Amino acid sequence: MTLLIIAPDRDLSPWTIALQACEPELAVKIWPQVPVKEDVTFALCWRQPADIWQQLPNLRCISSLGAGVDHLLQDPSLPADIPIVRLVDPFLAQSMFEYICAATMGILRDFDVYQTQQSATCWHPQNLSLSHHCTVGIMGLGQLGAYTAQRLAQMGFKVVGWARSQKQIEGIETYAGHAELVDFLKRSNILVCLLPLTEQTRNILDRSLLAKLPHQAYLINVARGEHLVDTDLLTAIDAGQLRGACLDVFRQEPLPSDHPFWLHPQIRVTPHCSSITNPVSVAPQIVENYRRSQTGQPLLNQVSRSRGY
Ligand code: NAP
Repeated sequence: MTLLIIAPDRDLSPWTIALQACEPELAVKIWPQVPVKEDVTFALCWRQPADIWQQLPNLRCISSLGAGVDHLLQDPSLPADIPIVRLVDPFLAQSMFEYICAATMGILRDFDVYQTQQSATCWHPQNLSLSHHCTVGIMGLGQLGAYTAQRLAQMGFKVVGWARSQKQIEGIETYAGHAELVDFLKRSNILVCLLPLTEQTRNILDRSLLAKLPHQAYLINVARGEHLVDTDLLTAIDAGQLRGACLDVFRQEPLPSDHPFWLHPQIRVTPHCSSITNPVSVAPQIVENYRRSQTGQPLLNQVSRSRGY
């Protein structure tokens, strides 16, 4: 029985080392070097090739190589009867919080304004803003969103959160469902998107949503590029409705060199690096799911196909 890692164009040697450090007997192969495809019972995937599944007739479990599963669930050839799991990891949540914290603090302390002033050799202190005057709105209160919300609240920010279902998180005012979205948006001076990409959330960050934010609100998108309607963001910033945006994810990655986001003075671009899965940290849960899938036990972090996350 073989665990196959399918992630084209990535250096996968740290993954093999981490998995075999957890389970020395485990047979780990890296696509496309698979001598016997019938031996593969567990696949660990990121942006897998389109025709992969029919070549692996004995799969018992498919695991995402990250927290998101949109790359799997959007694949029309994904077998309907094989369970899908994803990675849940405290280090992923910690690094995501640190990225959002950096972007949020930069806005609170006007680093974007000072960057522009510096390029014009302009010395002009801005009025001081304090964290408790700034409300951060987190869309998505799952593993990453709930952790980030709590940590920002501990730092003194007012934090509001929005999810599909009602939540009780200490120190956070929460809103649920479509009916409460506008009330949530109206309060969000800094809006952070940490939603999964599903049919309900694709293009959610559009003109109509951005218009409901407070004047000069700021957007941080660390979820997926397809959540955001790029032209609507540019229009909202250029019209003065939004102060700017910090974007880590894009519809096309790498972001094409002629995309207007690159040179926009009020948009900060980072190369999908806000949180990167650490193989050593997640190897034990992958090996545990491998064992469970071979013996028919309930899996960890199984994804609901009907919800889409
Ligand atoms: P998660 O634990 O599955 O949480 C998802 C949250 O979104 C839940 O609170 C869920 O509500 C909410 N939600 C889903 N659909 C919704 C809808 N239609 N309306 C309102 N709320 C909705 O996900 P996670 O582990 O926190 O990860 C979130 C996303 O972050 C991933 O899917 C991935 O796309 C992205 N990500 C990006 C990076 C990066 O490097 N940029 C790294 C890791 C992850 P309920 O709680 O009510 O179900």
